[in-house]
Amino acid sequence: MRPDRNVALAPLARWQIGGPADIVVTPGTTGQVSHAVSVARDCDLPLFVMGDGSNMLFDSRGFRGIVLRIGPGLDALAFAGTRVTAGAGIWVPAFARQLALRGLAGLEHVVGIPGRLGGLVVMNGGSQRKGIGTHVRHVTVVTRDGESRTLAHADLGYSYRTSALQGSGAIVTDVVLELEPGDRGVIMREMIEILASRRRKFPKNLPNCGSTFLSNPAMYDKVGPPGQAIEAAGLKGVAIGGAQVSPLHANFIVNRGGATSDEVLALIALVRGTVQNRTGFAMDCEVRHLTESGEERPAHEFTDAGRFDRSLLDRIDRSDA
Ligand SMILES: Cc1cc2nc3c(=O)[nH]c(=O)nc-3n(C[C@H](O)[C@H](O)[C@H](O)COP(=O)(O)OP(=O)(O)OC[C@H]3O[C@@H](n4cnc5c(N)ncnc54)[C@H](O)[C@@H]3O)c2cc1C
Repeated sequence: MRPDRNVALAPLARWQIGGPADIVVTPGTTGQVSHAVSVARDCDLPLFVMGDGSNMLFDSRGFRGIVLRIGPGLDALAFAGTRVTAGAGIWVPAFARQLALRGLAGLEHVVGIPGRLGGLVVMNGGSQRKGIGTHVRHVTVVTRDGESRTLAHADLGYSYRTSALQGSGAIVTDVVLELEPGDRGVIMREMIEILASRRRKFPKNLPNCGSTFLSNPAMYDKVGPPGQAIEAAGLKGVAIGGAQVSPLHANFIVNRGGATSDEVLALIALVRGTVQNRTGFAMDCEVRHLTESGEERPAHEFTDAGRFDRSLLDRIDRSDA
């Protein structure tokens, strides 16, 4: 495991935003994960763990610490009937296809999600209002003390797009899931339909992080999902610098070229504030922000605390709205 120094984060993130990280390591074994944790602790350096960066807004100033990328190398897969043990680094669409080939049903909805299994399990990701957590039996994590521990489903605090793993510091290395027996052809057909529908709905030509804001049931009942509320507020196509509310799907913020993390945060503040003023509902972010010094939380927690460049709100561009 060779550490790389001064690595640009933008190419590692789906938004293609992010300055240099001091160190990036890609472990190939759980032992190497523990080793990286001890090095960070001994050197008193912040440690950030990522999968594919598909839900991350990295700081354009970079990150003064160690980034641990959980990806290929930690992607083993083993089947025992309907029980599946998978490494946290496995690519989610490839994992979904493996399940289909084995006739294992229940996770068809994750087939189009561009992340690693560890990230999906931490985010309780999914689509069609489902989350992977339902199928997680237990996970193996490396704690910030460098120790390996097994956490059962009941310890994981799953609810819509959240889990107790978020912000806990625990690094997921392996996941055990329980699936249902199904028909391979039926599962495949459902996955193909899901992929086709995603291709129709989601912007694909410009870098983005998927849905920016979380849907919340009370808001959904009164004013609809975030995309609808943002569009109704006249914000579709609105931009600040390189960050733009997608003209195709208003809950996506796209990088139309050279967007900075400050521009995305300012746009998030504008959208959240405008929708709240109109509807009374404050939309929380699904996307997470990592600051230069290593704080990592949902992006709206930074904008609510005024931790964004307010002067950018003078540069709102409505020409494509
Ligand atoms: C085009 C597009 C479409 C998307 N569609 C969906 C969708 O339909 N449904 C959905 O739920 N999401 C969707 N997303 C968001 C994103 O893909 C998911 O949240 C995904 O699960 C994140 O996985 P990742 O490996 O990229 O994690 P990252 O973005 O790298 O990290 C996300 C969080 O997980 C933590 N993390 C990652 N790996 C680990 C690990 N091994 N151990 C501990 N913590 C870890 C990180 O620290 C961070 O807090 C979409 C994103 C894009 C770009």
